[in-house]
Amino acid sequence: SKETRYCAGCGVPIQTEDPQRSGYVPPEALEREHLVCRRCHRIRHYNEVGKTERTADDFRTVLQELTTQEALVVHIVDIFDLEGSWIPELSRYIGDNPLLLVANKVDLLPQSVRPEKIERWLAQFVKGRKTDPVDIVLCSVKMNLNVERVVEKIEEYRNGRDVYIVGATNVGKSSFINRLLQQYGDGEGDEITTSYYPGTTLDAIRIPLDDNREIVDTPGIVNEDRLSERVSPDELRLIVPKTVIHPKVYQLNDGQTLFFGGLGRLDFKRGPRQPFVCYMAKDLYIHRTKTERADSLYAEHVGKMLSPPFEKGTLPPMWKQSFHVRGEKTDIVISGLGWVTCRGDAAELDVYAPKGITVSLRPALI
Ligand code: GDP
Repeated sequence: SKETRYCAGCGVPIQTEDPQRSGYVPPEALEREHLVCRRCHRIRHYNEVGKTERTADDFRTVLQELTTQEALVVHIVDIFDLEGSWIPELSRYIGDNPLLLVANKVDLLPQSVRPEKIERWLAQFVKGRKTDPVDIVLCSVKMNLNVERVVEKIEEYRNGRDVYIVGATNVGKSSFINRLLQQYGDGEGDEITTSYYPGTTLDAIRIPLDDNREIVDTPGIVNEDRLSERVSPDELRLIVPKTVIHPKVYQLNDGQTLFFGGLGRLDFKRGPRQPFVCYMAKDLYIHRTKTERADSLYAEHVGKMLSPPFEKGTLPPMWKQSFHVRGEKTDIVISGLGWVTCRGDAAELDVYAPKGITVSLRPALI
């Protein structure tokens, strides 16, 4: 008698009769000692090809298709690094195609923040960038929060069209695609059904849908002005928050300075004593000092006490920008590192970051 065998990936019983049902392997695969069902095979396969080196040119090649095609464009951004993960040139390629904006990693924001407030804030953010998405969804792929809603929205807006998933590197695009493949594979459920193995061309991964359409996973675009593109993987681990951010509050007098590791610096030049609320990874060391001592302290301690960077001289030199805050609660954003919220009291500030890294002001997110 034939003994039942099980998938080495997920444990379902293996069968060779019905490709539409779970546990399917082609009959000839039974020869193998190590059996993996089609679904698991596909997921593994995706991981292999999903992360290959794809360049900005590949990205543009794929996006070029959009200018002549009807598609739903899904732009995934990272809520912790909106400025850095926003793809400004996207609007050039979209044409008349609808855009669905997905803000990932909401698990990093304090739970007290109301999602509706963030959505409104995001709507303002994109409006200022001359973009008009059909909808905005917040989610956390990692915590599997609201991912189903993203899938529903995709189904709602795609209207029989192809779906192009675009995003900067590190926004969680692969994690999202993986979840799609795992949860919506093989026709269970009424939402998007992905089928068969994702095909790869040189420049994109194409996942067939059940209506002869496809999900096109475009190469992640590299924004060079993001800190995350400039530091080493070990350094990155210290600046990207892994769990919900606990803001750190510093009451500063004018003439005081905060260092954010050795990657950022804020000088409070003039204004009444006030709180500065830092939203950054909890492992990032924040150092307070007198501004008059800041230059020499930095010269002596960068790469050591003021770290990351782990080594002096691995990043472009610190570059200063001056800002004036008054009246409105404002975030000072160092792209990729986080932000500092000012209450809106008058404040003259100098903000430093490695040259080339975007520093900007925005109305407070929280
Ligand atoms: P990709 O470069 O856009 O494909 O991004 P990845 O899927 O490789 O994810 C980049 C990093 O972000 C990884 O370290 C993920 O664990 C992390 N990540 C992905 N989704 C989430 C999320 O919802 N929340 C948090 N906190 N981290 C996430």
